[in-house]
Amino acid sequence: MAESGPSEKFPETQTVALVRELGGEVEFNTDYPVPKPGRNEVLAKILYTGVCQSDLHTKSGTAAGPDGNPITKIKLPHVGGHEGVGRIIQLGPGCSDDVKIGGLVGIRFASRICRRCEHCLAGKEQYCKKSTNHLHHEDGSFQEYIALDADYLTILPDDIDPVVIGPVLCAGLTAYKAILNCQLKLGDWLVVVGAGGGLGHLAVQYGRAQGALVLGIDKGLGKRDYIMSLGASDFIDFTASSDLIGDVMRITDGGAHAVVVTSGNAKAFAQAADMLRINGTLSCVGIPPGKAFIETPVSSIVIKGLRITGNLVGSLKECLEAVELVRRGVVKPKIEVRPFRDLPVVYEELEKGRITGRVVLKIAKD
Ligand SMILES: [Zn+2]
Ligand SMILES: [Zn+2]
Repeated sequence: MAESGPSEKFPETQTVALVRELGGEVEFNTDYPVPKPGRNEVLAKILYTGVCQSDLHTKSGTAAGPDGNPITKIKLPHVGGHEGVGRIIQLGPGCSDDVKIGGLVGIRFASRICRRCEHCLAGKEQYCKKSTNHLHHEDGSFQEYIALDADYLTILPDDIDPVVIGPVLCAGLTAYKAILNCQLKLGDWLVVVGAGGGLGHLAVQYGRAQGALVLGIDKGLGKRDYIMSLGASDFIDFTASSDLIGDVMRITDGGAHAVVVTSGNAKAFAQAADMLRINGTLSCVGIPPGKAFIETPVSSIVIKGLRITGNLVGSLKECLEAVELVRRGVVKPKIEVRPFRDLPVVYEELEKGRITGRVVLKIAKD
């Protein structure tokens, strides 16, 4: 059992980005308490964090639950952030020997799980019936220090680049899992809707790693060039196409084997299944605000033998698999590092769809 020495001093207060009520403005509070690591918890200093669409929807009060209605049970004041990378600086009592001060850890969506329910036992602990997460229940990575459950730590390899790994912990994991759900074979056509975004640019790369031919859909020349540079075979600017489904059918010679929809816009989901060929898979990721519907006729699903899948991030194991492909250089997150105080501006840009890849905030002062 390891504990930090009594001589070590940690600050009592810290800077956090919070909203006092859903839909309220982001405030920077410099007087927020630093959590004390309890039994079997570690205290981590947060170095960097990505900014996810779900953070935007949660703080705006527009995040949808499984019934399509807004999620209202959210801890207030709300401190978002669930794509963080931190360094362990203190161990609470009772941590096992494999948890080390100085080690890199991830701050993900899931924060605590029960380890006993059917989902935990099946290795799908993100669905744990008693789980808590860093989006709705506990303060996330938009703060300088965080206490984490030592038994559910996302222990990251020492040799990763902490600047780029944050976005892998939510966007990357979600994209990776969406691609696994597509069950692609070498040379299959994969359409990624929203290909230039935080999730999309990673789905393009995980899809390429699976040997798929990728057709990216997004808007603008900048995104086109970037998506093609990732090894995509083709690109459609949806603002310039008068017949999007027809264009997909022509390029893929009869429809995609899989379509991954990462868009934050509900409209993108409505006709996505129409882009599929026989026995194709529609893989939904990310959750657009409000009640979004897939408007594909049942007859189409039956007669074409379509599969429709969704997933909530992924398990810790799948997260570490997604991280490993980045560590090995197979997948390269596109990030832009900005100061912590830029968060409100980043939210505005996310809302307008102006961000290619992911913005990463630098949290820790040097
Ligand atoms: Zn997220
Ligand atoms: Zn459980």
